[in-house]
Amino acid sequence: MSDRTYRIAVIPGDGIGTEVMPEGVRALHAAADVYGFELDLIELDWASAEHWKAHGTMMPEDWAEQLEAVDAIFFGAVGWPDVVPDHVSLWGSILQFRRVFDQYVNLRPVKLLKGVRSPLAGREPGEVDFYVVRENTEGEYSSVGGRMFEGTERETVIQETIMTRTGIDRVLRYAFDLAERRPAKKVTSATKSNGIAITMPYWDERVAAMSESYPDIDVDQFHIDILAANFVLHPDWFDVVVASNLFGDILSDLGPACVGTIGIAPSANINPEGTHPSLFEPVHGSAPDIAGQGIANPIGQIWSAALMLDHLGEAEAAAAIEEAFEAVVAAGDTRIVTPDLGGAGTTAGLGRAIADAINHPA
Ligand code: ATP
Ligand code: MG
Repeated sequence: MSDRTYRIAVIPGDGIGTEVMPEGVRALHAAADVYGFELDLIELDWASAEHWKAHGTMMPEDWAEQLEAVDAIFFGAVGWPDVVPDHVSLWGSILQFRRVFDQYVNLRPVKLLKGVRSPLAGREPGEVDFYVVRENTEGEYSSVGGRMFEGTERETVIQETIMTRTGIDRVLRYAFDLAERRPAKKVTSATKSNGIAITMPYWDERVAAMSESYPDIDVDQFHIDILAANFVLHPDWFDVVVASNLFGDILSDLGPACVGTIGIAPSANINPEGTHPSLFEPVHGSAPDIAGQGIANPIGQIWSAALMLDHLGEAEAAAAIEEAFEAVVAAGDTRIVTPDLGGAGTTAGLGRAIADAINHPA
């Protein structure tokens, strides 16, 4: 097999995950045909209510050994609360991947597309095009702490934030490297060192230290409160925004919300060294409210395919997928685009139109 053969675990999951995944796979095949790489896809029924009903677990016990052998994981959506409680399905699948495969970067593009109605008034496509880089393994989301004096007037709860030099530096390095590959060459750090007086000043120190190794990168920082406001007021200021786990969690939902429907937003959970596979999935969940109707927007899944190909070194194919869905959305044919984009199209119809556009670029 050539070194341009990619072994990819395909896990549709539940709900609209099973509807948008075939369109993600269709886009991958189209890109493979045009750009001459090979796909070795391994479809798995894990992280689904079916798997839970059959086995009482979300994934087989040896899931990590099975997946260590793949180049990437292409994921749909997990969650079917009528059958499995959400905390069980999440902890039994996606959160395991992040921890065990040390996917310490969560990456989300924020890009205004022509033809998408955005809540940001008066913004042109091209003005809003940045990434949120979230630290995905430590920080505020530690389970260290506890309750004291339970059931009394003195009831007290404590939960620690844990930040390590290694943990901060590695996500900063990813953000600075990403900024170096982009024309604006700018990193914005989310902080709150005026209120969180121990961990956040340390985060700021590490940002300052890292910036010394990247003299051509412009660095600025904002407190998280005003940064959130500026996502809405001045989204054109940003290029690569890097944040701790909690701040990044908030910003990485706010960013995609600012540019339109959740149905188009992609995300990547990345282990940058490639010691373990990285995972690519749409931002949206299984959306039980619209599942089974064939109307879910497949672009979040398809854009995630582009992020995956970029990560695997197929930058041209990744760019071609992005150009394809941007062109189809910009054309705005209401028979093709899905209801969340103001059309009457179907998941498969929109997916086919995008695959066609990959095969026949404008
Ligand atoms: P999670 O718990 O993972 O956040 P969820 O099922 O609670 O998942 P989402 O799936 O994110 O929530 O859906 C939130 C809303 O957005 C739903 O009303 C859903 O209909 C809509 N939505 C989500 N994904 C899409 C999509 N691909 N196309 C159209 N609408 C979508
Ligand atoms: Mg939900």
